[in-house]
Amino acid sequence: MQAGNVLKTLHRLTEQAAKAPDLQTALRSLVTGLRQAMEGEVCSIYLPDPEVEGGWVLRATDGLNPESVDRVQLGPGEGLVGLVAREEEPVNLDSAQDHPWFRYFPETGEERFPAFLGVPILHRGQVLGVIAVQGPESAPFDEQHASLLFTAAAQLGGAIAHAQILERLVPPHHGEPELSGAAVPGGIRDAFLPGLGGAQGVTLGTAWAVYPPADLSSVADRRTDDPEGDKQAFHHALAAADQELAELGSSLTERIDEEDADLFHAYLHIVRDKGFQRRVAAAIDDGAWVQTAVRDVVREYITAFENMDDPYLRERAADMRDLGRRLLAHLQQANAAGESEFPEKTVLVGEEISPLNMASVPEGRLQGVISATGSAGSHVAILAHAFGVPAVMGVEDLPVGLIDGKSVVVDGYSGRVYVEPSDRILEEYRRLEAEEAALTERLTELRDEPNVTKDGRSITLYANTGLLADIDPALRSGAEGIGLYRTELPFLTRDRFPSEAEQVRIYRQVFEAFGDRPVTIRTLDIGGDKLLPYLPIKEDNPFLGWRGLRLALDHPEIFLTQLRAIYRAAAYGNVRILLPMVTTVEELDQALTLIERARGELLADGEDAPELPVGAMIEVPSAVFQTAALARRVNFLSIGTNDLTQYLLAVDRNNARVAKLFDSLHPAVTHAIHRVVDEAHGEGRPVSVCGEMAADPVGGLLLTGMGVDELSMSAGALLRIKWVLRSFTTARTRELADLAWSDECARTTRSRMETALLDEGLGGLIRAGE
Ligand code: PEP
Ligand code: MG
Repeated sequence: MQAGNVLKTLHRLTEQAAKAPDLQTALRSLVTGLRQAMEGEVCSIYLPDPEVEGGWVLRATDGLNPESVDRVQLGPGEGLVGLVAREEEPVNLDSAQDHPWFRYFPETGEERFPAFLGVPILHRGQVLGVIAVQGPESAPFDEQHASLLFTAAAQLGGAIAHAQILERLVPPHHGEPELSGAAVPGGIRDAFLPGLGGAQGVTLGTAWAVYPPADLSSVADRRTDDPEGDKQAFHHALAAADQELAELGSSLTERIDEEDADLFHAYLHIVRDKGFQRRVAAAIDDGAWVQTAVRDVVREYITAFENMDDPYLRERAADMRDLGRRLLAHLQQANAAGESEFPEKTVLVGEEISPLNMASVPEGRLQGVISATGSAGSHVAILAHAFGVPAVMGVEDLPVGLIDGKSVVVDGYSGRVYVEPSDRILEEYRRLEAEEAALTERLTELRDEPNVTKDGRSITLYANTGLLADIDPALRSGAEGIGLYRTELPFLTRDRFPSEAEQVRIYRQVFEAFGDRPVTIRTLDIGGDKLLPYLPIKEDNPFLGWRGLRLALDHPEIFLTQLRAIYRAAAYGNVRILLPMVTTVEELDQALTLIERARGELLADGEDAPELPVGAMIEVPSAVFQTAALARRVNFLSIGTNDLTQYLLAVDRNNARVAKLFDSLHPAVTHAIHRVVDEAHGEGRPVSVCGEMAADPVGGLLLTGMGVDELSMSAGALLRIKWVLRSFTTARTRELADLAWSDECARTTRSRMETALLDEGLGGLIRAGE
């Protein structure tokens, strides 16, 4: 077998499996394709047995008796399949029946195929199943076969996981899942989509799919409740596309050959093709939503073109795809205005949810977030926290279109998503929700109590903010001020840079709301995962690229505008300036010069601009090692544990695959924080922590013990942390921090800290699912 051919075959098989409508179809096409590619007599796939924990069941075969599918069951650690799964390694035998683990199933007829090669299907570190190929004794499998099957299994993991999820959501023979918590025999509705806890809390709401604009493959399977309105929308979109194409076409004829422009006019022929229009209208009449109908008919055309013998006509498939995207773009534009369509309890679901998507949900309706990408450290998760709604991130293979419109339970503690949950799950989650509500009520009593440890040491508790919408929750939480105002959010939700006057208006509202209480305003921190739609940045490593202060210093006009706006609005509050992503003293010096320049410009205009305290964020390792030099130049330091953890541990804060490695209790992070606190205090400067670590009861407790002066967090977490502080003496927090100093891994620290919380009766604060 040629390596190139194998790769092509694998690619084709993976694609087929990913597109299959259900698990059974996916598995059948895989076993047939693999048997041929492996030149074996038999290929079978075994998946976990839903009836026996740890057991395996034959789910598809090409070569064994088809009747044995779903009948051949192997208990935990049973048979050669059990051995492959246990060892997570290939097993290659010339004569399977001589192996002590061999189990014979007469119904399979496998006695004819003693040569056995089994490999595990691994996905995200878990054994999802086993692929086994078999052959006659005369044709044993060699090492090359083993490595090929191993490669295949590694590539197919994602596709099989995806098909398994489909099976859970659309059980075979049940068709579409019924709505609203209907219990289905067999506990299928108890199955969940696994992800990562992003923002804590549990909720029940209706999924609302968010799609990358104009992408055919991500259009949902929705039904229409207004076919006439949908047909009208389709005709408007056609007219808009027609006009756009005609204009483009005539401008092209001026620049390119007539003949090439003619090719371009092929688009117009399709748009004006009555057959195409009739088919879309018929699909809508059959009940499809307009975007679904366009997707399906466009796909039919694409397939028809792709199958044509004439190479010229085959090329038209690409035109058709392009045209489909254009029509969708027009339909989506028209659709975007309909705010009223968001369900009362909206749970946003998407491949990648942006802060903009969250901001566009009408006030009071956002209930939760489910994202295929990202982790707890992603800005969307942080924003969800700020909104006080749970988020589950990193749900790989999330079938967005299928979930759209369905009822979902979002468990931001354990990182689980239940679609159309069973009554049992609903009951469980209602209980959790009630417990949460009771805890919140209990915590409200602490609102006006001072932020002090049991023995009276005061720790300042600030809230993080970014949107005007989170001013109120911050005030209600009893925050002593704002420890981190992320100014990039008002920049992200616009289609151009906000003017100086606009910025003054926004900042002033925040400053005024807090009166005498300090508001720490961080200058623009874009780049990384926070991209402005009007300043596209394309980089291979955005988190190591043009981010935060680096970008501000390269664009002093943007930076100075913001600084002037801050100084102007500062007359209405008690303001401190914070600089993000400081990596060198030169950068800090440059930024300080620009801060003085902005103030100087205002003073020269005769405006009042008193000096404001300035702080630097410590969020990259280089800053940790220069703490003293940085501290001498500013009034305070603020540790951003989200980025500091990302950079110290080399773990992308947005990458679900490595999210389990992202832990701010890692000794490297806690040692760095110790160092920053000691050196800053040595220079007489206070230290605050404004990353998510401060919002975690374990993290907040540890940071207090390390001598951090201020903690800043999402408003929703503030009273929990206050409860923690008030339950411990300074001596006990120090003792816990001292013990953590010698820990060699995060797990040890976390479990000791959790025990300490439990001992003080704070078990209710410990994150579930850990
Ligand atoms: C941090 O990095 O910890 C931080 C507070 O900043 P952001 O999350 O906005 O990057
Ligand atoms: Mg940061």
